[in-house]
Amino acid sequence: MAHETIFSKIIRKEIPADILYQDDLVTAFRDIQPKAKTHILIVPNVLIPTVNDVEPEHELALGRMFTVARKLASEAGIAEDGYRLIMNCNRHGGQEVYHIHMHLVGGQSLGPLLS
Ligand code: C5P
Repeated sequence: MAHETIFSKIIRKEIPADILYQDDLVTAFRDIQPKAKTHILIVPNVLIPTVNDVEPEHELALGRMFTVARKLASEAGIAEDGYRLIMNCNRHGGQEVYHIHMHLVGGQSLGPLLS
């Protein structure tokens, strides 16, 4: 049984967050500690702890995460220059919150991913 994280409370609007988008499948909100000028988290409303827990039944929500990323990047005015989408998995991936999330990071040049 997976344990809820703070993201479930954000999705249910039980704690405040700067929510930019929400529908029946996903929620997007500004990262509380932005690592770049634009830093948005896109999460499935259903709790999936890590990418290792992804199942075929999640494919609709996972696909929606990408269409919402595209929409929000466009709205933020960073689509043309570009941005990075990141999903961290477990310890070596640097995952801190065990409710999968896509980081949409941009608004500045990010340099090489691995350096
Ligand atoms: O991928 P990872 O699990 O490391 O990222 C978690 C992200 O969630 C961090 O960037 C952190 O700033 C963000 N966060 C947030 N609001 C919270 C708790 C964490 O935006 N209440």
